Amino acid sequence: MGEVRRAYAQCPVCSYVFRQPSASTYVTVGRDSDLCPRFPGFPGRRSDAARLIQNGLNNSVTLCPACSFAAAEDFAEITLLSDEREELRELLREDGLLKVFRAAQPSWLAFHAADLCGKERSYDYKELGDLCLRGSWVCRAEREQPFESTFQLRAIRYYIRALDDEPLDDRELSVTTYLVGELNRRLGHHREALNWYVNAERALTQSETGSTEARDLSWLDRLICRQRELAREEAA
Ligand SMILES: [Zn+2]
Repeated sequence: MGEVRRAYAQCPVCSYVFRQPSASTYVTVGRDSDLCPRFPGFPGRRSDAARLIQNGLNNSVTLCPACSFAAAEDFAEITLLSDEREELRELLREDGLLKVFRAAQPSWLAFHAADLCGKERSYDYKELGDLCLRGSWVCRAEREQPFESTFQLRAIRYYIRALDDEPLDDRELSVTTYLVGELNRRLGHHREALNWYVNAERALTQSETGSTEARDLSWLDRLICRQRELAREEAA
């Protein structure tokens, strides 16, 4: 994608104008089993990895340094009614984690704020799940284990609601189901993990046989088998 991000952003909530980091293109060398991109040299320079995850060209999250409004969209494309602005302002002012961490601005804070604002702005559960998944990647890159688990739990909850309530295409259905399994495994919930891997297998089989838009998901098939074995060993 050749899209270039604006050098300056104006916050749609508090109107503060700030310079935003330029979006980075990056080279990856595969992915972890929870689909976190791996960068060459990682984990040698973990803050670099966290920054790449936050500012990657197709998945950036912008955080207003003044009021902590955050979103995955370009700020210029967000329009808010004045009562929405007021609601968000109040929400951001009162949030406990923001109160504690606003000054230190750890890398994961943007994802927490984007989750908070996204919920208020009625993002899809799938989108909220993806935000929290990426938040967990940033925490892992920064070795913030308790926060990594917090984001993983949030991602699981959102993904399950997305699977229940939202129209996902075949690919999203299989990948999301797999991720619920994999995040459970990472949290040590092996029985849940094994159940979800089975569901993911089923979703995958149905998508391969039943759908015209079935895509090549053999990588996912292999991943499910491998991680299911791993979960079995870990559970034993
Ligand atoms: Zn702001």
